[in-house]
Formats: sequence, C-alpha cells, structure tokens
Amino acid sequence: MSQQSAIPFEREALDSVLKRRFFFAPAFEIYGGVSGLYDYGPPGCALQANIVDTWRKHFILEEDMLEVDCTMLTPYEVLKTSGHVDKFADWMCRDLKTGEIFRADHLVEEVIEARLKGNKEARGIIEEAAEEDAEKKKRKKKVKEIKAVKLEDSVVEEYETILAKMDGFSGKELGDLMLKYAIGNPATGEPLEQPKEFNLMFETAIGPSGALKGYLRPETAQGQFLNFSKLLDFNNERMPFASASIGKSFRNEISPRSGLLRVREFLMAEIEHFVDPQDKSHASFHEVKDVTLRFLAKDVQSAGKTDIIETTVGKAVASGMVDNETLGYFLARISLFLIKIGVDPARMRFRQHMDNEMAHYATDCWDAELQTSYGWIECVGCADRSAYDLSVHAARTKEKLVVRQPLETPLTVTRFEAEIEKKKFGPKFRKSAPLVEQWLVSRTECELEELAKEMAANGKIVFKVEGIEEDVELDTSFVVIEQKTRTEHIREFTPNVIEPSFGLGRIMYSIFEHSFWRRPEDKDRAVLSLPPLVAPTKVLLVPLSNSPELQAVTKKVSAILKKAVIPFKIDDSSASIGKRYSRNDELGTPFGITIDFESVGDFSVTLRERDSTKQVRGSVEDIVAAIKEVTYNGATWEEGTKNLKAFETKVEEE
Ligand code: AMP
Repeated sequence: MSQQSAIPFEREALDSVLKRRFFFAPAFEIYGGVSGLYDYGPPGCALQANIVDTWRKHFILEEDMLEVDCTMLTPYEVLKTSGHVDKFADWMCRDLKTGEIFRADHLVEEVIEARLKGNKEARGIIEEAAEEDAEKKKRKKKVKEIKAVKLEDSVVEEYETILAKMDGFSGKELGDLMLKYAIGNPATGEPLEQPKEFNLMFETAIGPSGALKGYLRPETAQGQFLNFSKLLDFNNERMPFASASIGKSFRNEISPRSGLLRVREFLMAEIEHFVDPQDKSHASFHEVKDVTLRFLAKDVQSAGKTDIIETTVGKAVASGMVDNETLGYFLARISLFLIKIGVDPARMRFRQHMDNEMAHYATDCWDAELQTSYGWIECVGCADRSAYDLSVHAARTKEKLVVRQPLETPLTVTRFEAEIEKKKFGPKFRKSAPLVEQWLVSRTECELEELAKEMAANGKIVFKVEGIEEDVELDTSFVVIEQKTRTEHIREFTPNVIEPSFGLGRIMYSIFEHSFWRRPEDKDRAVLSLPPLVAPTKVLLVPLSNSPELQAVTKKVSAILKKAVIPFKIDDSSASIGKRYSRNDELGTPFGITIDFESVGDFSVTLRERDSTKQVRGSVEDIVAAIKEVTYNGATWEEGTKNLKAFETKVEEE
C-alpha cells in the first residue's frame, strides 16, 4: 500500500481511531487502569485471531511443525535451571528522594536523545518531531538542561555512538554513563542510585501450602524444551524438526509504556527448530535464498553506525554475516510473514545482536525490527541458542534430551571422560555427595579438558558447586579425568535450537502504524489499509435504504456470505452510505457491498474497495467469488475483479 507512506504520520489520530473503534483499551479502565495491561475489543480480537491463523498456516502447517500448548505456571526449578531466576532482569535505578523508578537503559537513551535534539535546536536545524511519543515529550519538557544547548562535535559523536550501542551495555556500564554524562532524574536533574538488577518474572506459589514456588512464564519456550523427547518420538526420531507454541507470557516490566509495545502480559508465538549442530543447512533454503532483506550487522553497530546492508539471504549466509542456512531461512520466512500481514517492507530491518548483547551460549541472533513513530521496535527475535537449553535441563533432571542415530560405519571417538570413585564420595561429602557427582558428570568436553590439565598440574582440582559453601577439592583418588577412545555404533548428540520468537502485540501495533492514513480530500476520514487476509471483518453490507425489498436481498446476501465463511457486518443505519463506509474504513474493512433497488430485480450488487474506493458491479455469486480471490487467494483487486464491470457513482462523497 503506497498511499500511507506518502502521508506524514500522526499518532494522535491513529490512537483516537484505535480507541474509538475499540481495537484495544487499558484493562480495568474504570478502576483507573494498571500500566502495561490491555484488553482487546472485537476488532482487536478478530485481527489478532487472523494474525495467529496466518502464523499457524505460514509456519506450523507449511513447515510441518509440531504444536504444543504448555502451562503458563512454571515451577521455580525449571526457571532456575534455564537461567531466568538469576538473569532475566533489567536494570533499574531509583531516585532515593522522590521514590521514582527508571529503567536505566531507557533513561540514558532518552536523555541523550533529548540532548542531541537540544543541540540541533541550538544550531537551528531542528525539524519539529510531531511523531514523538507524548509521554516522552512530557518527560523531556521537564528537563531544564535539555533546552536548546549546543554540544561540542566530539560530544555529539560520543552520544551517537552510545545510542548505536545502547542494547549492549551492562548495569555497571550504564551506571558509568550516568555518572560520566551527569544523567539524573529528568525532572529534577538530581543524581540517581546506581542501576540494580530487577527480575522481570511474576512470582507466585503453586498450591495451598505455598511450598512450591513458581512463576508466570516469561516465554513459551521452556515448555517446548521440556517436551523435547516426546516430540522427537512423535516425529519418529526424524531430525531436524520444529515445535511451535502460541500463548500468553508475562513480564513485570519496570516501566511499561508506548501502548502495546511494552506490556506486562502479551501473546507470543514461538518456534524451536531442533537441528544437528554439525549440519545447520536447511532443505528449503533454496526457496528463500533470493529474498532481499535489510540487515543491520553487529560490526556496523559496534562502530557506532546504523548503515543498512541490503542483500539477499543467500549472500548474507554465504558471506558469513548470518551464521548458518537455517537461521537465514527463518529470517526470510519471518520477513515474508510480516509482509503478508501488513508490515511495510521499507520499515523493516534485521538487526544483529552485538557480541556483548547476546547470551553467552548464543551463536548468532537477529531481531526483526519494525519502524514506528516510537522508533525501531524489536518485534521478532531469531536466535541460534546452540545446545544450551536442552543441556541445562538434561543436566538438572538427569533425563537424556538427545538424539540417537545409528551410524552406518562405526566411529572411533576419543574424548575426555570423568571416572568417579563413587565409594569415596559418601564418607567425604555426606549429603552433598550427589551434588558433587552431578557437577562432574555435567561438565562439557572442553571443561573436562581444562580440569584434566588442572589435575595434571596441581595433583588436584578445586571448584565451586552450587549448594555447597566451601570449595570442593578432589584428587585422583576421587576422580580420574582422561581421554578414552571408544568405538561407537550410535551417534548421540544434543540438538542445537534456532528460535524465532514473535510478540504479536508489538507486530499488531506496528501494522496499525504502517497501514494508517487519512484521505487527503478529507482529513476526518481515516483508513486502516489492513491486508484483507487479516482484516477483522472482510465485508460491510450496506443496503441503500431500509425498505422491505432491500432487507430481503440483504438477508439473502448475508446467507451466501455466511455459507462462504466470509466474516461480514451489516450496516443498515440511516447514516449516509459515505459515512457508513467511512466508519468501516477505520476498522480496516476491505470491501463494501452496496445493495440497491436494481439488486431487487437482478440480484446484482456493487463491490467497493476500501483504499481506492473503486467500485465494480456483478452478480452476488461473482462478487463473492472476487472477494474470496482477493482475501484468501492472494489476488490483487485488479486480478480478482477483472471480469466485473467498473461502476461509477457519486455515492462515496455523500
Ligand atoms: P525476547 O524473548 O525478549 O526476545 O522477546 C521476544 C519477543 O516478545 C520480542 O521480539 C517482542 O516482540 C516480544 N516482547 C518482549 N517483551 C515484550 C513486552 N514487554 N511487551 C510486548 N512484547 C514484548
């Protein structure tokens, strides 16, 4: 849709439509609301359901994925093992005088952005940022120092570099930036406490005793990992394969804001693609290798820049910018999906995580970011998580989460192994003996190699085990770590996981912005150019008057639409046709069927297209067939209506 990109974006007008048409609204609004919690109204629900349906078809059905629906309540142990209890946190800093709490990275970013804006103002090169977030504007207004203040060129450069690297800073680094650049409470300028970690999970107790601690899940992924063996079995042990899950996740965000973009409860759709670590090729890669994407690579960001590399997925993988074919395959498929549901490709980019931003176990990670009036927003994460998740859960539960494949020719393998003298562990470590044993058996090959070196050098190894206060010391009478050579007939490996993770609320909001525009001839007439495939309602039935003859035709057309399973609404109010269409343009309804007195005689109707307001006329059967073609079979309006007669009318302006 090209119209909307030519028209400057006005967020207030969009917000007013979304509110008026009840796409979504703050939850518990008559009680004053709770930040970060929203309810969806009828068009919001229908749009979300259509996006989910398209997602299911595009990924689960087309790629034969195995869908699971796992519980949201998750016991402590699972999330402790996955690392969420210790690491799923953001940095917050408090104003000890006022009690206000800020998310450290957002604060640094906003203050620096505001200072850069102030610098532009001072240099007289500011264009009015009408698109700026109202909340952000309010906060900035309070900042005395952010008035037009000219900055040294070197400071501007430093600030720009900081912004480009924003996603990679640790709490300590953020604290240092706050000190170095005197970033305090934006309202008062007073210094803040140094950033502290705040865990984002909602904690609860499962059952009446309160003894079983749990959390509301912060992602759907863990349920998929825990069911890995059952899924592999269900898939007749075939690899690679993917599981998928759609469900709510919960994060206790420090400062929820920007409407649906940062909320505390949201719908996620996640895929876990399990792949052989030695072969990350993808059987369907050739189908997407020519898809062109806009990449923002990690070294570009590390150099403080945001230049885009526009190239095909094939070339991006071949050059090594994207780590492997499977990851590249998913980036292309994510892009195709987003475009299908209404994302403007010119406002989509794939940003690579910088090395200091990525989890230590991840091999490569890219976010699909969509540009909105709030800036570039991460809407889909796509990470190669290596074997981390399955390995940690396997080590904790002692369940093997592995693939076993018979080898055509037996393999001679040499690897480090730890041989434990179990009899000696009980007397030495008593109750803690299993902890020490477990620690040893869950070491990786590289770790065992290091331990073997330590033993050879010192005659003992010394290490820490969680749950045991003192250091554990073992000599060769307790454990022998050495290389063993064995002949293997079965290859056993822990699959790597490539995880595309979608936040549907963020995507939905971005689509609102990408599809919103106002008719140039009448600014009060707003349109949401949602693709027919995902539009909440496909057709508006508009009888010209309320006469019994027209009512009878309306009834017949309704029955045909119902039979064809095409979602529609009737508007037989007394408002003018133009008004009735206008209301539905705001709801994104792509088609209108007008029933007039000619319809009574020959059962013909006119069909109106939302964006162009073009009309065609034909029999009800032909019109319904055209609607189906355009909505569900991907035909353009021109293709779908090529056999129908063009219809000129002045009704639209009435
Ligand atoms: P993550 O697991 O943090 O990579 O998040 C996966 C996806 O969930 C992101 O790409 C977002 O689309 C979405 N998401 C994460 N946090 C939020 C939030 N607070 N509100 C809305 N969507 C979110």
